[in-house]
This record gives sequence, C-alpha cells and structure tokens, in this order.
Amino acid sequence: MAGILSGLESLGLGALNGTDVLEDEEEKKKAAEARAAALQPPKVQEKDLIYDKVYTCKVCHKSFNAKIMKSGKSKLLGVGFALRPRYEGIAAEKYDVLLCPHCGYAALTKYFDVLLDAQAKLIKENISKNVILTEYNGEIYGFDQALERYKLALANAVVKKGKVSERSFICLKTAWLLASYCENLEAEEPDEDEKIKSLKAQEEEYLRTAMDGFVDARQKETPPIAGMDGVTLDYLIAELAVHFKEYDVASRMIQSILTAPGANARIKDKARDLKDTMQAQKKA
Ligand SMILES: [Zn+2]
Repeated sequence: MAGILSGLESLGLGALNGTDVLEDEEEKKKAAEARAAALQPPKVQEKDLIYDKVYTCKVCHKSFNAKIMKSGKSKLLGVGFALRPRYEGIAAEKYDVLLCPHCGYAALTKYFDVLLDAQAKLIKENISKNVILTEYNGEIYGFDQALERYKLALANAVVKKGKVSERSFICLKTAWLLASYCENLEAEEPDEDEKIKSLKAQEEEYLRTAMDGFVDARQKETPPIAGMDGVTLDYLIAELAVHFKEYDVASRMIQSILTAPGANARIKDKARDLKDTMQAQKKA
C-alpha cells in the first residue's frame, strides 16, 4: 500500500511518504512515559518501613504495641540542619516515642527502660491519674498524633525530673518532627499557610529550648550527652546558636571543636564552614 501521502515526491515532500496521518506525537510521548514509569521500582511507602513491636510498660507493667521504623530497610538520605536525619519515604521522627496507652507513660525509645521506682511513682501520680489519651487506629502515625506523643514524652520527662539533656533531646526531636510536618504540608497542602506559619513558629520555640537546654547540659553532664559525644554536641549547639544569632555562644563552641584533640577532620571542616556562614551572616 502506497499510503495516502504517496505522490508527494512531485511536490518535493517525498520524505513524508508513508507517515501515519493520524499519528499524535503527544499521545506517543505519554505512552512512552507511562511505559518508563511502569519500569521504575514502586515508590517506598511509610507503611512498609514500619512494624509493630510489643513493649512492657515500666510504670504499669502492662504490654502494648508501638510502631517502630525498620532501620535496616530505611535509606538515610543525609543529615540536615540541627543534625536532623532524612530518610527516603518516611518521617523517621514520628516513630521514636514509645507511649503506653494504659497509663500515659511516654519516653524516647532510648530512655524508655531507664526509669527509677521513684520516677515511676511520680508518673503514676502526675500523669496516669489525669491523662486522657486520644485513640488512633491508622496504619501509620499521623503528624498530629506523633506531635501528641512528643508532648507526652516531654511532660513525662518533666514530671519524672529527667536529666536536662533528655528534655532537650525531646525538644530537638520535636523540632525535627515539626520541620517534617511543614515540608509535608508545603508539598501536599500549600494553601494551609496559616498552619504552616504556626508550625514554623513552634519549631523555632522547640529549637531555642533545645539549644538552651544543651548549653546547660554541657555544664552539668559528662559526654556522651543524649547519645552525642562532646564534639557533636558542641557542633549542634554552634549550629543552633548561629541560627539564633547568639554569636558569642557559637564562637565558643566552634573554637572548642577546632581545638579538641580527639575531633576528626570532617567535623572540624564542618565547624570551619559554620564559622564562614556566621561571618557572612554577621555582615549581612
Ligand atoms: Zn503503662
């Protein structure tokens, strides 16, 4: 078959001979894209990166389930501002508070089992007697739910008179969670600007409290402090101090890192970069 475009040679358009008259370039492109997408591995979903684990409460001794991140399966993308780790497909911070649904005892995973009898008593009297817990049944923890868990962990830490480093660490992680929450809203519901503004203001407040607390903990406690060695803690404080324009504090921490005998080259480089950022920020 010569095709309906045959005979164009005489018009100098022989190259079009045999072309499909009804072909749609756009459709073809879309089909190719769809084929390529089908070949991509499926996007990692948060629900596939968590699992239910059974814990026994240190206060009421009943058992309960909590959702935990599968750390071996979650891919770390990098570490951002205020040492916040970023994972692919999951806001990891959501899964670091253990909460007993029977009595309201809550703590960061690493502190959950560390509880004196006197502290358990304080929690029974000041938390368990009064707490009213919200019931959630989702497949994953939502941001508001995770935020509630952090607030309970902080309330517990205050009531049990936990170390200032533990309270500061809860504040730091709450700030990480609020940052994730903001990013999620900005991507999914950008019209929610009032809510985004309020979350950002809360994040600042938690970061500020974390910084002041860690400065205090640095005086009172010996490293590791909240799991961080001295140099890492100094870097965290320095980064937060630059953020809050507390340049005296930042300079002292940077100096301490640069002169620390045990500090590795990588953190010293990071401290020098931070010093440059601070100088530039001061001039601006
Ligand atoms: Zn309990």
